[in-house]
Amino acid sequence: MFERSYLTKSFTVSDPDARLRQANDLMAFETSDGTIKKIPTATVIRVDAVQRLQAGSNKVALFAHALQESGTPIGWTSTNNLQGRFINETLDLLKPSTGSGKFGPNAAWSRGAYIGQIDLVEIVDAKTEIERIASDTVAPYLEMVGQAKLSGVTVAINSGFRSYPEQKILWDGFDRRLPGFNKAAKPGASNHQNGIAFDIAVAGADGNEVYDWLKQHAPQLGFVRTVSGEPWHWEYDPPRAQQAAERQTYKIPTVTE
Ligand SMILES: [Zn+2]
Repeated sequence: MFERSYLTKSFTVSDPDARLRQANDLMAFETSDGTIKKIPTATVIRVDAVQRLQAGSNKVALFAHALQESGTPIGWTSTNNLQGRFINETLDLLKPSTGSGKFGPNAAWSRGAYIGQIDLVEIVDAKTEIERIASDTVAPYLEMVGQAKLSGVTVAINSGFRSYPEQKILWDGFDRRLPGFNKAAKPGASNHQNGIAFDIAVAGADGNEVYDWLKQHAPQLGFVRTVSGEPWHWEYDPPRAQQAAERQTYKIPTVTE
């Protein structure tokens, strides 16, 4: 049963300029005697609803409806004003629409073949953009996020699930050696298309605190590195992760760098 992660949490206001926005026009601020209303820094709030506004071609701005811990409404403010900036919070459950085909937004592929429709969950990524991950992987992924947080480490993704058309754009860019495109699997052949692949923000790999934490802990939590030369690419694959843990490593044997 899917439950939005933010509904069961408290958040701390961290931005000293946490302005309140008008419920019916999030681009406008709430004012009192000509002064913009703000939520004081360090206020602990709950969030009972989220709205998004398009803020560029594929960027969205997220806004949270803040409540006092007692339940008294405070108002709408940007999620960037909250400690953690809403990274790893889950938003909506995306179910496949009836009649959706193998190139549809929920179509899963494995090894070049269409394998069916899966439920996806929206999640806020490392850059506070919205990604999708397979609903089956939400619990293990958030368990890993929670374990890392206990060590003071923020695990967050840059990429999760991709539809066939999205993978095709990455493949075409790579295939034509267009600037800004990295190595990508052919459409249909990427594990980003079935929900087990997570590109985790691990800038610099070795020596990066997230990467070092993953090397130590991810295999016991079902995640394993599977692509040589891509330290950011981890897959939720408990059998292979367990084999790696037994060999006291964090990667499958074909990963050599
Ligand atoms: Zn990847």
